[in-house]
Amino acid sequence: MGNETITEPSRQTPVYGEFDVVVVGGGPAGIMAAAAAARAGGTALLIERYGFLGGAGTAGGLSTFCGLHARTYGQDVRVIRGLADELLERLVKLDGLNAPHLTIADGIAAQAFDISAYKIAADELVTGSGARILFHAMAVGAVLAPSGAIDAVLIESKSGRQAVRGRFFIDASGDGDLAYWAGVPWEKAPPIDGMMYPSLMLRINGVDVGRAGPAPWRTVERLMEEAEAAGTHTFPRKKPIVRPQRNPLEWRANLTQLRRADGGAIDGTDVDELTRGELIGRQQALDAFTFIRDRTPGFEDSYIVDIAPQIGIRETRRIIGPYQLTEEDVLGCADFDDTIGVNGWPVEAHVAGTVEFRWQWRERGFNQLPFRIMLPGTRADGRPAANLYVTGRCASMTHGAQSAARVTGPCFVMGEAAGTAAGMALSAGVAGDAIDVTGLQRQLEDQGAFLGRSAPEAVL
Ligand SMILES: Cc1cc2nc3c(=O)[nH]c(=O)nc-3n(C[C@H](O)[C@H](O)[C@H](O)COP(=O)(O)OP(=O)(O)OC[C@H]3O[C@@H](n4cnc5c(N)ncnc54)[C@H](O)[C@@H]3O)c2cc1C
Repeated sequence: MGNETITEPSRQTPVYGEFDVVVVGGGPAGIMAAAAAARAGGTALLIERYGFLGGAGTAGGLSTFCGLHARTYGQDVRVIRGLADELLERLVKLDGLNAPHLTIADGIAAQAFDISAYKIAADELVTGSGARILFHAMAVGAVLAPSGAIDAVLIESKSGRQAVRGRFFIDASGDGDLAYWAGVPWEKAPPIDGMMYPSLMLRINGVDVGRAGPAPWRTVERLMEEAEAAGTHTFPRKKPIVRPQRNPLEWRANLTQLRRADGGAIDGTDVDELTRGELIGRQQALDAFTFIRDRTPGFEDSYIVDIAPQIGIRETRRIIGPYQLTEEDVLGCADFDDTIGVNGWPVEAHVAGTVEFRWQWRERGFNQLPFRIMLPGTRADGRPAANLYVTGRCASMTHGAQSAARVTGPCFVMGEAAGTAAGMALSAGVAGDAIDVTGLQRQLEDQGAFLGRSAPEAVL
């Protein structure tokens, strides 16, 4: 596309409303941020571009929670607690949660969920906490006060363009959209040999459970390797993840890898690349499904029941805050004085053609997540973004650390901490980086969160 621009007429933008805390993005981080902010006592609005919550978990069709557990001293234990406990309880009531299963060569536990049940459970958790949700509204810009604080988020929807005013803002957009508009420092890994590749998820139904046997995911991987060795097929990615859902008639498949024409990763902040990703993703999904159906025992009468509404984006912008969590922190199970919770997931790097896993060196099996990774860094002009936290996969982490702590469990942790901290900043009348972190930690523990300062309870 060319560089031509047009000048839009200036306009008066109606104000949709004013809230104590405004959260952009209703993925795992945004769900928890909105619920926690509302429980802290203020008014909270959660703005989501789709008509449902869950982020990549629902819109990207993941249907598995990773990072809820850690392999700690040889035991698989759930280390993500607090509001996550309530969400999981709601999912159980909806009969929408599998028991945890071992994954990645049986090295760690993950937990499959039903996508529709997750949407409902998230609605209930957020609205039940007193937060309001605004669906079908895309945040498209920010208006800053002279101090550098955010005054309003601009949204576009079927109702037109509107502004949402807030006293505090939480960017849970996954892509750091609000941080970008607010002009705080961020980075993005290069598309070649850098940013992780996206995938398009699909679900397969009509599997003959008896014929498929106990572990057909190993069969699928072996058949793919054999076909590649025989030269009959080339797959976009090795290490497919093909697993049963709550009802084992239905399987989820994570085996595509979406590239630009030059081989680089599709960038989830570029609309042309997103479009290409959807087009090639559906073709890859169809090819992969056809291979599985034609070769895998038990899949003969299966069919694609769903291709995810959008390609799943693993990584785009990450802010550069006062501290960036590093891959060494993850692998070395680092501790931080300002811990807000933990990450037990290993580094899972989606590189060209495959997935690389790097495991924690220490037996404890989890690192603490510092509060500082949600704080925006200093702008070039020195003005602080004093009323902004950035949470979830776009928090201040290096590419390597984000390859681990981007999964759902740690995003729940960061979201709950951001919402709780925003409430504290407003009550105390201080900037986001000036809250009493010890008080935040106490509050999170009172809410049932696990901060990694003691041994975790043996909950699976
Ligand atoms: C293909 C794929 C497979 C994965 N598999 C797993 C898995 O099996 N298990 C697991 O735990 N994790 C998995 N992950 C990681 C997953 O991305 C994270 O767990 C998690 O969803 C990140 O949470 P988040 O809240 O930071 O962001 P997201 O989940 O990306 O949520 C961001 C939300 O913000 C909304 N949004 C974005 N921009 C705007 C805007 N401008 N205005 C309004 N709304 C906006 C989006 O619609 C979305 O709802 C996978 C990721 C991908 C891409």
